[in-house]
Amino acid sequence: MKHSDYDADRLILVCNDDGIFAPGIRALAEVAKEFGQVEIIAPDRQQSAVGHSITVSDPLRVTPFQINSKMEGQAVNGTPADCVKLAHDKLMKKKPDLVLSGINHGSNAGINIIYSGTVSAATEATILGYPAIAVSCTEFSESADLSGAQEAIRRTVRYILRNGLPAGITLNVNAPAGPLKGMKWARQANSRYVEEFEGRIDPHNKPYFWITGRLEILDKGDDLDLNVIKQGYATITPIQYDLTAHKFYENQKDDLE
Ligand code: MN
Repeated sequence: MKHSDYDADRLILVCNDDGIFAPGIRALAEVAKEFGQVEIIAPDRQQSAVGHSITVSDPLRVTPFQINSKMEGQAVNGTPADCVKLAHDKLMKKKPDLVLSGINHGSNAGINIIYSGTVSAATEATILGYPAIAVSCTEFSESADLSGAQEAIRRTVRYILRNGLPAGITLNVNAPAGPLKGMKWARQANSRYVEEFEGRIDPHNKPYFWITGRLEILDKGDDLDLNVIKQGYATITPIQYDLTAHKFYENQKDDLE
């Protein structure tokens, strides 16, 4: 039985940064299938926190990814942004109508947005002209209940189908684990990591460092993504890859001499 939102002519590209084997991408593809045909093209391994990096010095190879000899998708030995670029240029039977990235295992709220491979897959899709959504579950565990994130992405896809999405805008969705309590528009909390590294000593008596740390909010407001999530709600944040500081730019009158 097909969902009432289903359109057989609609093609949806699904990507992620946790790798094609991650439970989150499966959960996302399940929801995508309610809306149309789905192609999964994703990294062949864990690529979290690679940001928007692309592969320039090595060839990209594509391997069919099968489960029980059933075609599940295409695994790429590259980054999330590589996957979307290659999908767009070479790998898809036709251009997608929508690109979904996730469901990431771990929050992509606050400053995490800038490090996120999940968000970058969606941003790359936006650059290429496709409506795109990144979706993350704020709980890191791969056994977390993703039903709330699934409902959040369902609502976000419906929002785009109803309203469209202006060029240059990507939607970034974060949902707590468990059933969806509700979903609110929120802005990216200005935040940064503190106490970032743990220093230890290796068996050869040499020091090494391992990134850890805790997120500090440098911002106030009920509408911050990190605060809305703390209240148990899913968030939707419109983001953009145009990094120009427009207000500052507009205030610059004189050429430099
Ligand atoms: Mn990840």
